[in-house]
Amino acid sequence: MLGAAITCAARSNGREVQPHLSFRDVRKVYPDGVAALDGVSADVPRGQFCVVLGPSGSGKTTLLRVVNGLTQLTSGEMRLGDLPLTPATLRAIRRRVAMVHQLFSLIERASVAANVLSGAIAEVPFWRVALGWYPKALRERACEVIARVGLDQIHLKRRASALSGGQQQRVGIARALLLRPEVILADEPVASLDPAISRDILGLLREAAREQGATVLCSLHQTDLAREFADRIIGMRKGRVVFDGPPHLFDARAESALYEGLMPVNKAQSKQEPIHA
Ligand code: ADP
Ligand code: MG
Repeated sequence: MLGAAITCAARSNGREVQPHLSFRDVRKVYPDGVAALDGVSADVPRGQFCVVLGPSGSGKTTLLRVVNGLTQLTSGEMRLGDLPLTPATLRAIRRRVAMVHQLFSLIERASVAANVLSGAIAEVPFWRVALGWYPKALRERACEVIARVGLDQIHLKRRASALSGGQQQRVGIARALLLRPEVILADEPVASLDPAISRDILGLLREAAREQGATVLCSLHQTDLAREFADRIIGMRKGRVVFDGPPHLFDARAESALYEGLMPVNKAQSKQEPIHA
């Protein structure tokens, strides 16, 4: 069943296509023995807005951090395109991946422009960063992404701490978009925002990513937002995938299995086996 689901995810017009992100039996056991990821396998095609949904402690953050190497695997494999994540490929993979954080992770005393430009820190010589002398093309790109996320010129010089929560997350998204990443990891990007602003932010993230063909892994714990915005939902519980399918198939039964631990009706499905919708 798992194999069939993977084949579905990786097919386009009847042709096999290489997944953009690929997790193969990924396990992460922390030194205290907690298995945060307990055999996760999934293929994510290019351009998909894939929501990783699950209760607190289910392994969402750990899974996202596997992609940019912030979490080292205990076993299994993660690939970006045809590049397996190894110590030798880590830098190359990080260049292609950007992150949006729950608490925005902005430099509060710095301006909006400086925060957005910090998305290029790894690519710009240290002395330029220290002096704030960023190349012209990069400054122009920063203006472009700041406009793209709906902030005005007047915000450019404003301190990040002077912005509302929703505006701060717009800055976080602009920073992530700056270098045109192939993959955007968004770890509960709306957990600190009220519902109306959350919808604006998720809509913005989805559309901006789609415009540049980026693949998004977005962790959420709100089922209504997952249903509304996801191309696909990967439901996680205790480090395992318990649902994998399109949002319209994430029904009450799947939600119960994810949040209350009810067994699927089909007894043939073992506890470990995900519901592939
Ligand atoms: P989620 O993002 O879904 O809330 P996490 O990936 O943060 O879940 O955590 C999954 C499990 O791993 C939890 O039981 C959590 O306590 C544990 N965990 C996360 N980070 C660490 C760590 N650095 N050391 C030990 N355990 C951790
Ligand atoms: Mg988390």
